[in-house]
Amino acid sequence: MPGLEQKQIDHLAAMMDERWAREFREIRSLFSATDEDRQQVTLGEGVDEATDDALLVKLSAVDDPLIRQNLQDVRDIAAARQRIAAGKYGECTDCGADIAYERLLAYPTAKRCIDCQREHETRKTGR
Ligand SMILES: [Zn+2]
Repeated sequence: MPGLEQKQIDHLAAMMDERWAREFREIRSLFSATDEDRQQVTLGEGVDEATDDALLVKLSAVDDPLIRQNLQDVRDIAAARQRIAAGKYGECTDCGADIAYERLLAYPTAKRCIDCQREHETRKTGR
């Protein structure tokens, strides 16, 4: 499948890298805003010293809606990076069609083509 050109993938990967860094800055600032005790309990050690990946593992146990949203975003990015590594990035995970570059520019972590995404959302809401 021809799919995306390498330079398009590179561009989207760079967008995701920026997003990744921003999400982790937000997560860290959310944590510095929470009280020390809780930080100690949930994380055990300094948040600032942890690598992004180590932080991600620790944060899986955290039950905070704001942090959860950030976590979902970084997980989506991690999954997209895996698809890039596997050469599957830009292919719809449902039907295997190429996902339009324009769609990926708007949603670099999109894993479905627009048709399958619509169907997925219809199923999810039960309409
Ligand atoms: Zn599809």
